[in-house]
Amino acid sequence: MQFGYGLNYLIDIENAVIVDVEATPARTYDEVAATKTMIDRTERCFDLKPKRLAADTAYGTGKFLGWLVKEKRITPHIPVWEKSDRGDGIFSRADFIWDKRHGHYICPNGKPLRTSGTVHDGRTLLYRASKRDCDVCPLRSRCCTRDAARKIPRDLHEDARDVARRKMKTKAFARSRDERKRVEMRFAHFKTHHGFERLRLRGLSGARDEFHLAAIVQNLKTMALRLVWPPPDPAVA
Ligand code: SF4
Repeated sequence: MQFGYGLNYLIDIENAVIVDVEATPARTYDEVAATKTMIDRTERCFDLKPKRLAADTAYGTGKFLGWLVKEKRITPHIPVWEKSDRGDGIFSRADFIWDKRHGHYICPNGKPLRTSGTVHDGRTLLYRASKRDCDVCPLRSRCCTRDAARKIPRDLHEDARDVARRKMKTKAFARSRDERKRVEMRFAHFKTHHGFERLRLRGLSGARDEFHLAAIVQNLKTMALRLVWPPPDPAVA
């Protein structure tokens, strides 16, 4: 974030080159939407599409991951935004197994949780256990603390979130995370290294112009550095 506006870069992290820039109001919702805009624009203008996208947890929502995985076929190297983890000894969603074949969850007592198919808040299905099962369950004190029967929410894009969860356990994910942090550090010094202490132009369109100029300067600097210190040859690294 810079000066009350969100500065969003799409960066080729292998080469530390800024591929696209988008200024937004400084809200997570707008910043995530800006990433979609930049990915689509880069594909349209340069015929460039990343194979993987590394980003932080703010981008690990079902909606964004669903778009990335199912629509764009881009591998997410993004930590999943988890809201269901619990630290109070009560079973969390991770303790319930998703039975893909039957399309329902299996609880720690081996009973199914099914959905009526009603979508809540435009993005969530609720899977409910049977009250009959929960009433006589020996694990009830660790599961249903308030409700008559346990229910588990499932994002409409949970399968895309599962793809991202699986990627989080890979070495490729760890490498992307390290690369992203290294590159982000380089771009985090706007104010200190570039004297970019305040915006001269007004409004969102002014911020957009200034952010583009800053990105051009940063890319020129990267290219100049590359002339002096070419990147190591991966074949001999
Ligand atoms: S309380 Fe219900 S949902 Fe929870 S483990 Fe027992 S049967 Fe399964």
